[in-house]
Amino acid sequence: MDLLLFGPPGAGKGTQADAVRGATGVIHVSTGDIFRKHLKGGTPLGLLAKGYMDQGQLVPDDVVVDIVATRLAEPDAAAGALFDGFPRTVRQAELLQAWLLAHGRRIDLALNLVVDDAVVIARLSGRRTCLACGATYHIAHNPPAADKVCDKCGGEVVQRKDDAEDVVRARIETYHRDTAPVLGWLRANVRVVDIDADRPIAEVESALHAALRG
Ligand code: ADP
Ligand code: AMP
Repeated sequence: MDLLLFGPPGAGKGTQADAVRGATGVIHVSTGDIFRKHLKGGTPLGLLAKGYMDQGQLVPDDVVVDIVATRLAEPDAAAGALFDGFPRTVRQAELLQAWLLAHGRRIDLALNLVVDDAVVIARLSGRRTCLACGATYHIAHNPPAADKVCDKCGGEVVQRKDDAEDVVRARIETYHRDTAPVLGWLRANVRVVDIDADRPIAEVESALHAALRG
């Protein structure tokens, strides 16, 4: 089964990914996480991605599709994947669907997390991320038990550089210009379930489980 968690930055995709992955048994593919891992490792791909990430711009489609295809070629991806933060352009969506169809698969379901821009700004500006494992928190809605210490791995919890206010504004613009049109493509080509994501984390999780059952 191949699924998308779709929605603007800050909608809660990463927060909900574990629950959806747990319910379906497929792997989690977050292109943002892959780029951050490369950045941490100082690879050429990480350095290339950093230039775009720091500006709130998208990494070029061919680069993104290439890293996704590489991930999908690994044995644990054979049963399907939960894509998070991908596709972010119509071209990425078309290339993903083409890759899946060529492998006897397809995008089975897109879970569209719906939140407005004001919520996105409040969430991204309050988001904190573990430097070691990437777990995300929110200073008000979902803080770690001990200040700046990750509940999951004990790593240091900090603000992501691209969650600074000016970059958040650029990311929202990028979303409306390049990524919102993907929703039209999805509605024309794939089963889409809209989820009101402006609710407490547990309620969004229940709605996602209901969508997966339906
Ligand atoms: P995305 O992966 O879509 O960019 P995240 O999952 O990182 O978004 O969530 C963005 C921020 O909002 C994080 O700080 C997270 O803790 C918080 N958050 C996620 N879902 C909710 C929710 N339903 N209510 C309140 N805060 C939330
Ligand atoms: P995210 O963690 O999903 O918010 O992604 C962080 C940043 O990584 C984005 O602002 C982009 O610069 C880059 N990125 C992640 N996924 C993609 C994608 N599918 N296409 C282009 N750029 C991406």
